[in-house]
This record gives sequence, C-alpha cells and structure tokens, in this order.
Amino acid sequence: MKAILAEYILDTNKVLKNKAVLIEGNIIYDIVDWEGTKDYDIDEIYGGEGYLLIPGLINAHTHVAMTKFRGLGDDLPLDIWLNEVIWPMEKEWSEEEIYKWALIGIAEAISNGSTTINDHYFFANEIAKAAKELGVRAFIGHTVMDIQGPETMNLKKGFKFFKEWKKEELITPTLAPHATDTCSKELLSEIKEFAEKENALIHMHVSQSKEEVLRVKRREGLLPVEYLRDVGILEKSFIGVHGVYLSEKEVKIYSQSGATLVHCPTSLAKLEGEIAPIIALWEKGTNIALGNDCAVSNNTMDMILEMKFAAILNKVKMGDPTKAKAKEVFYWATLGGAKALGIKAGLIEKGYLADLVLINTKKLYFLPKDNILSHLVYSAKGNDVEKVFVNGDLIYDLGKFTKLLKFF
Ligand SMILES: [Zn+2]
Repeated sequence: MKAILAEYILDTNKVLKNKAVLIEGNIIYDIVDWEGTKDYDIDEIYGGEGYLLIPGLINAHTHVAMTKFRGLGDDLPLDIWLNEVIWPMEKEWSEEEIYKWALIGIAEAISNGSTTINDHYFFANEIAKAAKELGVRAFIGHTVMDIQGPETMNLKKGFKFFKEWKKEELITPTLAPHATDTCSKELLSEIKEFAEKENALIHMHVSQSKEEVLRVKRREGLLPVEYLRDVGILEKSFIGVHGVYLSEKEVKIYSQSGATLVHCPTSLAKLEGEIAPIIALWEKGTNIALGNDCAVSNNTMDMILEMKFAAILNKVKMGDPTKAKAKEVFYWATLGGAKALGIKAGLIEKGYLADLVLINTKKLYFLPKDNILSHLVYSAKGNDVEKVFVNGDLIYDLGKFTKLLKFF
C-alpha cells in the first residue's frame, strides 16, 4: 500500500488538513490522519508538510503531437492559421515524428499536473503508443473528415484504430469526427451507428470559427448544433469542443442534450479573439470540461494556468468578476472532465481512481495559507507539480518520467 501525506487535500467538495491518502492497487483505499498510517502496511510513503494533494487534472481536448509547431503561426486568424500554416506542415508528418512529438507533448502535460488527456489527431496509433509509454490515462480518437482534408483522415482508419486499442487499461479509443463543416451527414450517421454498437465516446470540434458556422449554414441550412441534433449524435456520449459562436437557441439545445462542452479559453482567445458562451451553457446545466487545445495555439500544456485563464477570461466576457469562480474552473478541470469521459476520477474519495497530483507549496506565492483553492487557481504554476500518480502508479517524480526508458 502507498501513502501520500499532505498538509492540504483539496477537491471541489472539500479541503482537508494534515491527512494521508492510502492507495491500494489503482484505487484510493482510504483517507486517514498522518498518525493513522501506522495501522497499515505501507511500502511507499510520499509528501508531508508543505504539500498539497489534488485530483489529477483532465485535459479534455488536446492535440499533443502538435507541440512540434509551437511558436509557429502565432497571432494569425484561425482560418489562415489552419489552412496556410498548420495543414501544409501536417502534410509533411511521418509516423516517427508524430510519436516523438506526442511523447514530448504528453510529458509536458504530465509534468504540469495532467493525469488524463483526451486527444484528437490523425496517426492516433503513434499517440496511443506514446501515451502507453509514459503511463498517462488517455482517450484518443483518430481524426476523420470527408469534406476537406487528406486521405489519412478516412473513417476506416478511425474504426480500425478503435478496434485495435479497445482492450487497453489506460488507453480508451474514441471516435473523432473533425468538425461540423468538414463532416457530412452520411459520415456522422456511420459514426453514430458504430458508437452505439461499441458504447464509444464521440469527440468533435463544434462552432470553432465564424467560417465553420457559415459553411454549415450554406450546406445544411442549419446552425452547427441543430445539424448535430438532427443527425442524432448530440447526447451524453458526445464531447463537443469550443462552441465559440453558439447562438442562444443553440445554447438551449446543447444544454438539454446531456452532452459535454470542452472550453479551451486560451486557445480561442488567441486564435479568434473570442470566448465561448460558457457561463450561459453552465448556468443552463451543461457539463463543462477544460482543455488546452494544443501547444501551438496555447502555447503550453499547463492545465493549472488554463484554470486561471478560464476564470479571468470569462469574467471579461461577462463583465462580471463573480463568473467564473475559482471553484467552478477547478470543477471543470477535474470532475467536469471525468464526467465527460465516464471515469470515476476528479475527487479524492474512497473508491475513486488513484489519479493524483502532489504540489509543493513551499513557495512565497502560496502565502498566506488561508485559501489554498485560490492559490491553486490564481497563483500556482504547472512547475509546482512534484509527483504525478496515475492508476496508483507514480509516473512522474521531480522531473523524471518513471515508466519511460528512453526519451526518443
Ligand atoms: Zn482542437
């Protein structure tokens, strides 16, 4: 059994002081006083005074391999960025390069406190191999589209990837149609049928740019969310991403569907100069999760920083400093993501997955010690993370990735 001692144990339901979390196998076995650990057969003990233990952060939308393009194409509008910068570079990709940059992207995500990633990219096989190597929990979908885009993004490859990886413990394959403007009704219907049969999640960009909305309107005579509703895929197993240009009517349809919306505030503020109507969706009961999108548009994999941007940018969007609150963005980065992906994670409680992050608070910006939640969201940095546990295993320890034999 492992024990993690912490001065603070924090999740969205509580703050506990001077407690120890006991881990048996991949599950949180119990939470006891530090003294109480003596009653158990403990082989490994971590943390102690000055440590904060939180549930692992869930990056609910990312493209880890795109780390290769960081710093390229900054400060451009989304359509030009995608069509003139990113897609031409992606044509040059090889499998070795994807694997190498996925490894770098995932390693950066882990070292900044993510225990789960939800990735959407072509060459999904290489990304899954990199995720497995590092020991992160990963949901991965092979991007498919049939309206624009290369041959590599065909549906057969998406289904093949799904079937090949569906028996892994830490890797869960998903279905990943690209976006509402690049996927036809026929393609989405086939995906829906397959998803129902396999009980699969569908992960898709929705209303990311004005051009996407215009293209769907022109082609289907519908708004993106109406299009998804009519195809029949807008339900609990649907993880939509961005939703920047959702109309009031779409917000209503979306919030009644049971689907999750992943908010990527930094990326879309940078690419579109916009913030999605997240607060409106949230207040109507939509499950919200948080994602970084990718290291090109973000430009980091730091989900601690993403929580801060989520809180701050929504305040600016709403003209209201009470929306969103620190506790809400922490929920989006933990329980919101867990709910979207259907995993028992995001809380530090008996019986939950032992996906945990140990943070060193012996820094000046954690003083005074009155409000640890505020410090986590508004003052902490990704590199305050010292140890990361996934499925009960220590996968990151003071700059080292314990499962990885060789970086590349
Ligand atoms: Zn994306």
